[in-house]
Amino acid sequence: MTDGGIARAREVLGRVFGYREFRGHQQEIIGHLVDGGDALVLMPTGGGKSLCYQIPSIVRDGAGVVVSPLIALMQDQVDALKLAGVNAAFLNSSLDARAAREVEQAFEAGELDLLYVAPERLLTDRFLALLERSKVALFAIDEAHCVSQWGHDFRPEYIQLSVLHERFPSIPRIALTATADAITRQEILDRLGLNDSRVFVSSFDRPNIRYRVVEKDAAREQLGRFLKDGHEGAAGIVYCQSRRKVDETAVWLAGLGMNALPYHAGLDADVRREHQQRFLREDGIVMVATVAFGMGIDKPDVRFVAHLDLPQSLEGYYQETGRAGRDGEASEAWLAYGLSDVVLLRNRIDESGSPDEVKRIERRKLDAMLGYCETTHCRRRVLLDYFGETLDADYQCGNCDNCMEPPETIDGTVPAQKLLSAALRTGQRFGAGHLIDLLLGKATPRMVQFGHDKLPTFAIGTEFDDMGWRAVARQLIAAGYLHANAERFGALQLTESARALLKGEVEIRIRKVSRRKTGSRDRSAKVKRSTELPPGTDAALLDVLRACRRRLASEQGVPAYVVFHDATLVEMAMVKPQTLDDLRRVSGVGETKLSRYGDAFLEALREGT
Ligand code: ADP
Ligand code: ZN
Repeated sequence: MTDGGIARAREVLGRVFGYREFRGHQQEIIGHLVDGGDALVLMPTGGGKSLCYQIPSIVRDGAGVVVSPLIALMQDQVDALKLAGVNAAFLNSSLDARAAREVEQAFEAGELDLLYVAPERLLTDRFLALLERSKVALFAIDEAHCVSQWGHDFRPEYIQLSVLHERFPSIPRIALTATADAITRQEILDRLGLNDSRVFVSSFDRPNIRYRVVEKDAAREQLGRFLKDGHEGAAGIVYCQSRRKVDETAVWLAGLGMNALPYHAGLDADVRREHQQRFLREDGIVMVATVAFGMGIDKPDVRFVAHLDLPQSLEGYYQETGRAGRDGEASEAWLAYGLSDVVLLRNRIDESGSPDEVKRIERRKLDAMLGYCETTHCRRRVLLDYFGETLDADYQCGNCDNCMEPPETIDGTVPAQKLLSAALRTGQRFGAGHLIDLLLGKATPRMVQFGHDKLPTFAIGTEFDDMGWRAVARQLIAAGYLHANAERFGALQLTESARALLKGEVEIRIRKVSRRKTGSRDRSAKVKRSTELPPGTDAALLDVLRACRRRLASEQGVPAYVVFHDATLVEMAMVKPQTLDDLRRVSGVGETKLSRYGDAFLEALREGT
């Protein structure tokens, strides 16, 4: 970028947004746009995509026109910009005719920096004519993966956005998405006529998210402990597979004194909307939801995403967990999974009635998900590898359970052989429960009925308890030695490769199985959690600052984070600014917010210290 361009972009970064430095590729992207270039930006959720078009829109003449399918979010986005002193507006079906006309007039008169529009509105003749008459700084196409016919967010209107290039060839365009795969990327370039644009690919790593997988035991109690243990009072999402489980879990958490709300497609639209609004606006709501909840949740301070059931693919899992920690602060992704999840999902695929080709892909995706759960290596490495970012085999992120408490592995060949032969000797017709009873030597009525208490494998597995054997079974499934047959109610059957393991031609290392009592605390309870404050932060003062933020936010009818992010309040509680000049130096405090809120926060700071 021209030096003048850099200087102006930096000035806007500090004055308007209150930030000191650009992140990642932001400076390059912004420079390229300010100079009139086209760009495709691939950045993970929370990477900071918005500034990439907001700053060039402010720096360049005219208004930046932002196309977004997420109508429900436009209001909050525009409110946030206005509070930072940016002239922003939106046009979508929620405005009445008069309000819409006012926005159009302001746009035509050159009074706006940013204008958000829904794609169907942008494509109308009336709006295209308005564009011809107005000064446009750039076009930003947000959620650009919606152009992909293969993706689940496909929007037909997105394909027609190529008209922008045809009618306004000299206006720079920027397309943005958090979808990583190469096929979608090429589709965006082709369909939007962006083949000459620069492509900026960021790492999809989310270093502030800590990944943790626990063995499901008493899932709800484990969830309760996870929440109490470091996430108390924090906002988060708990995903469940079924509506019923959502309802039950929400009630259960509310019984523990948490602010938990249910969200699923079976609830009234009004109830859903109200719960979503409360989640966005209030502090510390735990949303218990099916996967129906999420698209377009850009609440920056979601501190945890918990899964009570196994997701069906790593794509889905990464997207869901990616909703945590958009503000870059410490956050946690927690997953409880057990053998029954694996059997259930396998069965669901087998019985889905989909074509074999589709089933094959779904099984592969589930296998990758299982591989993630059972890995004894760094979980981040497994995730990034899946998305095409290869790291060294011994890479350690230091922020996942396996890196922080490396699991001990043992030679699992003999236990594996015991389980495999138990399956073989019983005709591969029984599920894990019966096989484990057999190994443990439990003479249940079923055992006696089938004469299995007379088998040589009866009672040969007392080295582990029930939980231990379940872990062995899961690892054998994940490693592809056993599969759960849906037509036989989840009976465990040997795969082709199991033979070599049975004969001792290959060995298998498995996670060391602890004989811990069910309900004992997770070993990890002592590690730092997301709600823990940096040293030197005054917690009582932070509460006073939060209360001040809550009051200002509700006076103006905006979510609390629109006033200031948590990170900004934490920094205030640490450095304890005493003058407006001190306050200006805190990250996230721009000039407009300083003059609007500065005195209120200085007052709160005095009161709290
Ligand atoms: P995305 O759209 O990529 O998910 P956002 O644009 O919403 O991400 O940015 C995520 C968060 O990071 C926002 O809260 C934003 O204010 C903050 N942010 C973005 N860029 C910077 C920066 N250079 N310095 C500090 N915070 C930033
Ligand atoms: Zn790791």
